[in-house]
Amino acid sequence: MTLSLSPVHDFDCQSCGACCAYSAEWPRFSLETDEELERIPADHVAADLGGMRCENDRCTALEGTLGKFVACKVYAVRPIVCRTCMPGDDECLMARERLFGAAA
Ligand code: SF4
Ligand code: SF4
Repeated sequence: MTLSLSPVHDFDCQSCGACCAYSAEWPRFSLETDEELERIPADHVAADLGGMRCENDRCTALEGTLGKFVACKVYAVRPIVCRTCMPGDDECLMARERLFGAAA
């Protein structure tokens, strides 16, 4: 019997973090309410108030080491785009490929 696992189920976000370090244009706010935005710590919000603050494409709320162990410091109040990105979807694959190479 050949055991084949779908790559989708192999993706472990806590040992990745690629989508959180893909582009400063990625973790932007969209349909969040004012109340939701107010819950995001101000020091992690971009100067233009339009998204998460990033340094060199990496969201400042991401702690840890990319590809090893990462965590989102604002997980409970993270923006919508962060909630809708799913392991294995197109954005995930694009981010992983850019950070870890085509075999990621
Ligand atoms: S969604 Fe994909 S790119 Fe983002 S942390 Fe999870 S596995 Fe990595
Ligand atoms: S808010 Fe959290 S989940 Fe969203 S990009 Fe930043 S570190 Fe990643």
